[in-house]
Amino acid sequence: MTPGQTPHYSAYDVVVVGGGPAGSTAAAELASAGHRVLLLDRAGRVKPCGGAIPTKLIGEFAIPKHLLTAHIRSARIFAPSKASVDMRIDNGFVGMVDREVFDPWLRERARTAGAEVVVATFRDAARGPDGQLAVTFDGNSVSHTVSTRLVVGADGANSSVRRLLFGKGSRPPYVFAYHEIVRSPAGRQPGFDPQRCDVYYQSPISPDFYGWVFPHGETISVGVGSAVRGFDLRAATRLLREQAGLVDQETIREEGAPLPLKPLRRWDNGRDAVLVGDAAGVVAPSSGEGIYYAMLCGRLASEAAAAFLATGDAKALAQVRKRFMRLHGRVFMVLGFMQRFWYRNDKRRERFVAICEDPDVQRLVWESYLNKRFVRTDPIAHLRVFFKDIGHLLRMAFQ
Ligand SMILES: Cc1cc2nc3c(=O)[nH]c(=O)nc-3n(C[C@H](O)[C@H](O)[C@H](O)COP(=O)(O)OP(=O)(O)OC[C@H]3O[C@@H](n4cnc5c(N)ncnc54)[C@H](O)[C@@H]3O)c2cc1C
Repeated sequence: MTPGQTPHYSAYDVVVVGGGPAGSTAAAELASAGHRVLLLDRAGRVKPCGGAIPTKLIGEFAIPKHLLTAHIRSARIFAPSKASVDMRIDNGFVGMVDREVFDPWLRERARTAGAEVVVATFRDAARGPDGQLAVTFDGNSVSHTVSTRLVVGADGANSSVRRLLFGKGSRPPYVFAYHEIVRSPAGRQPGFDPQRCDVYYQSPISPDFYGWVFPHGETISVGVGSAVRGFDLRAATRLLREQAGLVDQETIREEGAPLPLKPLRRWDNGRDAVLVGDAAGVVAPSSGEGIYYAMLCGRLASEAAAAFLATGDAKALAQVRKRFMRLHGRVFMVLGFMQRFWYRNDKRRERFVAICEDPDVQRLVWESYLNKRFVRTDPIAHLRVFFKDIGHLLRMAFQ
């Protein structure tokens, strides 16, 4: 819409609330398929995010190279003792995106595909006497109400769609994550490599998750996550910056947000609403990775929505969660177990980092992160890792 033009909103097939990776993907794909789509995204805040994305996302969702601020070739992980292990990527790279640029680009792609993209804040969704869903939002200081056959709730971890249409008790468990965007060192700096991510498993930095240093070309995301109430995330980030030699670099932004680490049991209301991405609790435990999963949810939601719009059968909406869990449910379960087991205390983290020295483990970690291939690629390596893990566990039990 051009400035000054009076908006004219009417009836839609789908209203997508939230123009992050999940919502923009759903809106773009539904609009490409010829549906009438309204995408609402509120103005203002850049999503706090480390911005690391796997190769699979770049290929599957056709992300152009110019959106990548860095190509990461290795990770260095630190144990509580400060011992570190370098994990080189032999095949591929981790891409880095800046959400201040990435998200508007995704929304623009949705607009080009035919979605109506409006800067507005979702306020309400209610059914009229005829059972028709009406969505109310504020945009340009004016309140608007439109009718729609379906709402896609892609409005992030604190989803209002979830609260209104799925009830207050539907909130998933969270880790809280905080990061600072700092200016990258101008020249070479000992301890900092612009093509390497550093990950810290040390309780003063995070008692139950981890701290990170993710380079983004001109800037760096330095942050920590924790679910421990009262844990001082800012103080921990300061400590992390001291350890990483980044304490004197200029701080550009400071921001935080919840990371929901458990998919909800239901993503659809059996009638006319479906949740995707963070709103549905879809961030991988252990890693905190959410962008790829959010975009995949968006895609699955667009396919389920198309079936729902064609047949009117709301059972189609349940396919979003079903298909997602079929693809990634096992990985989420294993990562959840790993987080509960290995991140529990510093003794276990020390062991966890030691395990990562193993080339088989490194290969499996990169393969499962970058290409989302977990089991089938190299069964012999899996067996080797399995027996080594058992060895580590037995050693811990008898120490
Ligand atoms: C500090 C931090 C670091 C992270 N690092 C990584 C990482 O390195 N890699 C990774 O893969 N994941 C990372 N994540 C997770 C990742 O950011 C999320 O999983 C991902 O952004 C989820 O996408 P989404 O589209 O579901 O939600 P969001 O990205 O949260 O998008 C929701 C959108 O909805 C809009 N919205 C909210 N409420 C309303 C409303 N009422 N009306 C209209 N619009 C609304 C918001 O403005 C926003 O644009 C990180 C998260 C945090 C907090």
